[in-house]
Amino acid sequence: MSRTVAFVGLGHMGGPMAANLAKAGHRVLGHDLVPAAVEAAAASGVEPAASVTGAVAAADVVISMLPAGRHVLGLYDDILAAARPGTLFVDCSTIDVADARTAHERAVAAGMRALDAPVSGGVIGAEAATLTFMAGGGEDEFAEARPLLEAMGKKAVHCGGAGAGQAAKICNNMILGISMIAVSEAFVLAESLGLSHQALYDVASTASGQCWALSVNCPVPGPVPTSPANREYRPGFAASLMAKDLGLATNALREGGVHAELGLRASELYADYAERVGDTEDFSGIVRTIRDRSGD
Ligand code: NAD
Repeated sequence: MSRTVAFVGLGHMGGPMAANLAKAGHRVLGHDLVPAAVEAAAASGVEPAASVTGAVAAADVVISMLPAGRHVLGLYDDILAAARPGTLFVDCSTIDVADARTAHERAVAAGMRALDAPVSGGVIGAEAATLTFMAGGGEDEFAEARPLLEAMGKKAVHCGGAGAGQAAKICNNMILGISMIAVSEAFVLAESLGLSHQALYDVASTASGQCWALSVNCPVPGPVPTSPANREYRPGFAASLMAKDLGLATNALREGGVHAELGLRASELYADYAERVGDTEDFSGIVRTIRDRSGD
């Protein structure tokens, strides 16, 4: 069924996601604060919205893809009153679990329905429509959003009630951040012990050390030719995004009183690393920081 979608936030992720919805036959009314982002989306079949409230008033579904929770809550404050009762709001941004729950509450209080549906898969996944969506909200809301999510991705998982999608995203990325540091430390230890990268890879990738950080995104050049280490750590998944996601995990750890020493330490290490490299390096480049600090 063709839907009318108001799509807010046409950046690196939102632009190609909106384009894939238009390609799938939906009417997509696009809005971004940056005119160049709207123009780029318009070249891919997205209709530039004359005003965000006008687009929302005409929409069956409102999808947002914004930088942080404050942008999402600010947007909802601006547009909820303009939407038709029962409109489905789907926020795909990566934001605090607490902000996601607040966004749900505000949408429901205004007579709307809501889903949080953050993604993994990066810009390449957004362009190729191979994202994975992690959704939080009601069964009916998920069922209604599903065809739209599947037009932008290859998999959509319903994780539970409000905020559960964001919770799944930050828990997964906390595993990823910690495991990349563990793999990197093991490679630097191997170097100091005179063990080759390939030998460690050959053993660990088929033994109990196996994980995505090793066998897909291997932080040293050689063993996995497609990993960012083989192209001077060009992203991939930028260090700044890993630092952001671990910052969200840290907030949730503190709010929940969870004792997670590795999660907190990984967050500090990525914050420090990302301050230096921003979005120019893949998060696996943290192996160089570990190597540089070794031998002191
Ligand atoms: P981006 O900065 O490229 O895009 C965000 C867009 O939102 C910008 O174009 C900005 O102008 C627009 N914007 C901000 N406030 C707005 C408002 N009030 N109204 C309209 N437009 C507004 O960021 P991105 O890389 O596309 O990331 C978007 C979200 O997706 C973030 O939450 C990020 O954490 C998450 N994410 C990104 C990646 C990635 O690889 N880039 C991967 C997974 C998840």
